[in-house]
Amino acid sequence: MLTTSASTSATTSTTNLNNLVAQASSWCTSFGILMGARELDNTRQPLGDLIVEPAPFSLFPTEFPQSSFETAYELGKPFNALVHNVCSQQDWLLDEAIVNAAQGDPDFTGRLVSLARDVEAKGRAQNLVLGLLRSDYMLHKPDGTGDDTGILQVELNTIASSFGCLSSKISKMHKALHGDVDTNLPPNLADEGIAKGIATAYQEYQKQYPESKNIAVVMVVQPGETNSIDQRDLEFVLKTKYGVPVVRKTLAELAQCQYRANNSELLLDGDSGLVAGVVYYRAGYTPDDYPSDTEWKGRSIVEHSSAIKCPDVFYHLFGAKKVQQELTRPGILPKFSTEATLLESCFAKLYALDDDNYEDVINMALKDPHLFVLKPQREGGGNNLYDDDLVRALRTMTKEERGAYIIMQKIQPPSTTGVLIRRGKIVYNGDVVCELGVFGITLRDYSSSENIAMDEVVGHILRTKSVQTDEGGVAAGYAFLSSPKLV
Ligand code: ADP
Ligand code: MG
Repeated sequence: MLTTSASTSATTSTTNLNNLVAQASSWCTSFGILMGARELDNTRQPLGDLIVEPAPFSLFPTEFPQSSFETAYELGKPFNALVHNVCSQQDWLLDEAIVNAAQGDPDFTGRLVSLARDVEAKGRAQNLVLGLLRSDYMLHKPDGTGDDTGILQVELNTIASSFGCLSSKISKMHKALHGDVDTNLPPNLADEGIAKGIATAYQEYQKQYPESKNIAVVMVVQPGETNSIDQRDLEFVLKTKYGVPVVRKTLAELAQCQYRANNSELLLDGDSGLVAGVVYYRAGYTPDDYPSDTEWKGRSIVEHSSAIKCPDVFYHLFGAKKVQQELTRPGILPKFSTEATLLESCFAKLYALDDDNYEDVINMALKDPHLFVLKPQREGGGNNLYDDDLVRALRTMTKEERGAYIIMQKIQPPSTTGVLIRRGKIVYNGDVVCELGVFGITLRDYSSSENIAMDEVVGHILRTKSVQTDEGGVAAGYAFLSSPKLV
């Protein structure tokens, strides 16, 4: 152990605390808990992904109830199966759940739906699909109400679920620094599990195309990504542990690629004959990733190819907030899951704004705006509307626009204490709340429900933020990486 200091901020002296900050920040540098640095001024411009600094982190592990932690893990496989079942019987997804969201958000959700329809019409060139899912939860325990529902799902991420590798390393850091005092720090093998998922998909592809000798995993990345270390880590594990080559490409670069005429293989390099066996998206989840038709062309080329996609456009659409809300309608879940009761136990109240009773829903939210969150069909943090912004938006939205938003009950997590570090300095010492994400990996076959090449729950991420912060992302600058201390 590096230190014997007690692991709560209240009982740690200032000198000990400063020592700990230095140890922990150095640990981050030594073991690669790093993100691309940004300008110190208000522009917060990224300095390029090779100029790095420690990722924002919590000095201490964050208290989390053991029973809720276990429930979150238990939910993993039922969600793996649910995503696949909904996407295999795509009528509900495309013809019902997402229709109004596509109309209300034609330039993004609408284009994804058109792409899905196009794949449906032409037929899938690949029946295997890799899901690297991250189901995010918060504890719900409103003050003074006696209500304690355990965990409620914030959202299910089906594309570019990030921070698996850095989270595994944060767990190790907390164990090394605090493991003598905090004994209930669960291991976190998210990094290994995610690598195994991608490697398994790669091996399945090799079996399908034994004549292809030169196969790579493509990691689809954003130009100017600040979270590239989390991605590189995975790339290096894939290379060293599994012998799987990884190439990084933007959507615009993929637009230049061709198919092999005979079998729809995605040719990455005509000279060497390198083909894509697995295409793993760490980009493509926001309209900002598609500044022109070129990027849409890149997406479309991948989607029609024989590469195993992580995710394909159907899995991607499953992650839409609108789909999350539509799944809460009575009678829907049992159509797709044999574990509907377990899944429903973590559903927060979600409301559509495109039903006949939409005025009642709007009035309910306008009456008590602090109890609700207004969400568009967006990913990546910073898009939700709260309080006055929610009121303003609800008052001015058109009918079309309403279809692309949902209203969600505001989850009210209990607070605990935390010390939050950015760039080697304590930037917050006080009450914090947290969000637990659990990584599920599924490699399934659209042509045979029996063929399940992988179905696992592999690890977690715990993000901590001050109680005053509504938004949540680490990359978006709101939250700090932590690990759970089970209580
Ligand atoms: P995104 O796709 O942008 O990550 P989320 O649904 O995860 O969208 O919302 C972003 C953040 O907003 C979450 O990480 C969480 O901190 C906060 N948040 C989202 N929904 C709720 C909710 N219903 N109650 C409380 N906080 C929420
Ligand atoms: Mg989120």
